[in-house]
Amino acid sequence: MHPGRSAIGMAINYKAKIFASCLALLAAWMMVVTMFAAAHVARGVVVALSVGIFAVLAALGFRLLPRLAGQAQRQRLVLFPERNPNPVLALSSDGQVIYANAGAGEMLKDLGAGEQNVTELLPLDLQQRLASLRALPTARQVWEYPKGNRVLACSINFLPDRDEFHAYITDITRHSRVEAELSHQAHHDPLTGLPNRRLFQERIDQALAAHNHDNLRVAVILMDLDRFNVITRSLGHGVADSLLQAVTARLEHLLVEERVVSADATLYRFEADIFALLVPGFTENQTPLHLAERLLAGIQQPLYVNTREYFVTFSIGISIYPLDGENSISLLRNADTAMQRAKQLGGNNLQAYSLEMNARAAESLSLENYLRHAMEHNELRLNYQPEIETRSGRITGAEVLLRWKHPERGVIMPSEFIPLAEETGMIVAIGEWTLRTACAQNKAWNIAGLTKITMAVNISARQFHQQDLPSLVKRILAETGLDPALLELEITEGVAMQDVEHTRATLKRLKDIGIQLSIDDFGTGFSSLNYLRRFPIDRLKIDQSFVRNLTTDENDATITRAIIGLAHSMRLTVIAEGVESKEQLAQLRREDCDMVQGYYMYRPLSAAALEEVLHEDHVPWMTRIDPRRTPKGNYPVS
Ligand code: C2E
Ligand code: MG
Ligand code: MG
Repeated sequence: MHPGRSAIGMAINYKAKIFASCLALLAAWMMVVTMFAAAHVARGVVVALSVGIFAVLAALGFRLLPRLAGQAQRQRLVLFPERNPNPVLALSSDGQVIYANAGAGEMLKDLGAGEQNVTELLPLDLQQRLASLRALPTARQVWEYPKGNRVLACSINFLPDRDEFHAYITDITRHSRVEAELSHQAHHDPLTGLPNRRLFQERIDQALAAHNHDNLRVAVILMDLDRFNVITRSLGHGVADSLLQAVTARLEHLLVEERVVSADATLYRFEADIFALLVPGFTENQTPLHLAERLLAGIQQPLYVNTREYFVTFSIGISIYPLDGENSISLLRNADTAMQRAKQLGGNNLQAYSLEMNARAAESLSLENYLRHAMEHNELRLNYQPEIETRSGRITGAEVLLRWKHPERGVIMPSEFIPLAEETGMIVAIGEWTLRTACAQNKAWNIAGLTKITMAVNISARQFHQQDLPSLVKRILAETGLDPALLELEITEGVAMQDVEHTRATLKRLKDIGIQLSIDDFGTGFSSLNYLRRFPIDRLKIDQSFVRNLTTDENDATITRAIIGLAHSMRLTVIAEGVESKEQLAQLRREDCDMVQGYYMYRPLSAAALEEVLHEDHVPWMTRIDPRRTPKGNYPVS
């Protein structure tokens, strides 16, 4: 069918025809009159014939006038589809195009399709659609479908009395682009381009609906960047934003690598520094834990922003449908609880939700309230754990360990409240108090003439990155009068590697004060030797996890040996913490580890108990080794 040419399109101008016929009749009559006049026919006959013809004409006119008016109306209506710039089609009951206006031809041209082929404007599955439309009580539908690079909308209705369809087509490409853009904006995060929390929640619900009956599981994984607020505060929002983009790129890369396991896993930016993952449709035997572990490990590799290197870690919480929740709200709440637990455990770990966590979450909330008052109520205490020279058994230092004497719950260990204090920022005030108390205590022991020891104070991430730590240390040393050489600060490897440039600069300023510096929990992070060399440090503390299995696990023994060798090559001393047995001590002596700390020698002691110990300058039962007479690796054990 050629658009623009049709039965209706060629409607006859009846009004003009009838008008012309009347004129013709009148002209014929004039001719007859003239002829009769010329022939001198009787006047009466002429008059009678005239009256008769006029009567016929009047009757005819009377009958024709309403029809003429109707025709005019119809002609005007015909113009609506005819002149409509959008395609208007009439289809027969079997879907054949029986009428198409000129607008259809225009759109076909725009689409680059042949002008004759009007069906090109209709959806491919036209027959099915027509069948379902016929079954509808309203017999009316609007279809939206793509055509080439356009999106068309076809408003179609079925006329049962004529057994045909009328279709009105519009190009809604622009409209649908704007709509898609708006929907994208509403569902995506502009910084990372990732789908946002809103879409995450919608997709969880969809996944739950999809797997309601097939016994497959759905995992909701929340991943919070540890101490990201510290990074934002110390480096500014610009760097923090770039870092979030770098984290996104890393996660996407890791997910591609893990595609085999997580074909349908999708990444979302849940909020601020929390990313989320939806793993839909896995069986009881498959586990999303493996994937989460890969992400946890993969994110620890250095990230680059403006050529500077940054290290970040995640606290990951996981909840699984149908075990941990029936809907998106409960699954999200429980994944969040698990994530908070991972944070409380110091970050850089993943926790699967368990029921007991809810009780714990409530507990930690009340703990937070109590902690706010702990300093005011004088509930914080310091314990001191001796650090001993391996060869001589001399006590040369003590690590300061914080304890909280809770009025109802008794002594609370730092692993429970330090992460909380860190999260809430209370660590800054607590840390300052610890530093001041430890320095004042050491000075008091100096004055009392006890063995001089170095006080090793742990510094949290927030203290290190946020506070002007060197100024604080200077001020406290001046206030207490302690010799800077008798103060040591411990920074964990993880904290040191977060922003290596900042670490290097801060450590340098601290070193200039004359204090000692050590890297705590060494071996758990991802230090590169390059950085270690650039940090002005004195000591590495081997993490207790290696010492624990030193005598039973060949790997841990090898790592311990390597750390000791590495430290010595860099002229650093090494201290092993967590020494609990005679065998471990013997092994560390054989490996030439400089110092030891652990329950086997001393547990963390109160100030009064350490004072007792410091009346001696060495561990009474430890055999002293004379390095001149005992070759390395052949030390006696006691
Ligand atoms: P850390 O700095 O690695 O401290 C060593 C931890 O190992 C201490 O745990 C200590 O009691 C424990 N320990 C020592 N010897 C042994 C042993 O032979 N066996 C075992 N199983 N454990 C041993 P604690 O006191 O519970 O402290 C845990 C962590 O809390 C510390 O790890 C440190 O990161 C943090 N912390 C403690 N006090 C402070 C503080 O004043 N400020 C900050 N920021 N963190 C602190
Ligand atoms: Mg420590
Ligand atoms: Mg440690």
